[in-house]
Amino acid sequence: MENCIFCKIAAGEIPSDKVYEDEDMLVFRDIRPQAKVHCLCVPKTHFATLAEMDGAQAEVLKKCLMKIPDIAGRLGLDGGYRLIVNQGKDAGQTVFHLHIHILGGQDLGEKLL
Ligand code: 5GP
Ligand code: ZN
Repeated sequence: MENCIFCKIAAGEIPSDKVYEDEDMLVFRDIRPQAKVHCLCVPKTHFATLAEMDGAQAEVLKKCLMKIPDIAGRLGLDGGYRLIVNQGKDAGQTVFHLHIHILGGQDLGEKLL
C-alpha cells in the first residue's frame, strides 16, 4: 500500500525500534509513547480496520493475539498490560493500517477503560 507508514516500516523502508518480527507481523516501539512501555503490533499485510479484514488477515490477527503474551513477557510486563485497537476517526485512529497498541510497564489506572 503506497504512502502507508506502517507498510513502509514493515518493509524496512522506515526504521523502527523493533521488539519482535516474523513473516506475518512486526512489533515495534511507538514513536510517541503513552505509557512507560508502548509498542505496536502490526500485521504485515495492509488493511485499515477490522471491517476490511479478510479471512487470511484474520488468521494473522489471531496469530498476533496468540503471540502477544510472549512478547509482553519479553517486555517485562509481568504486572499486566492493556491492548487497544482504534477503529476509525471517532476512536482517534491516525494510521489506517490495523495495529494493536500494547501498553504497560506502569499502573495504567482506570481512565481509558
Ligand atoms: P492510532 O492513533 O492510529 O491508533 O495509532 C497510531 C500510532 O502510531 C500512534 O501512537 C503514533 O505515535 C504511532 N506512530 C505514527 N507514526 C509512527 C512512526 O513513524 N513510527 C512509530 N514507531 N510510531 C508511529
Ligand atoms: Zn499499510
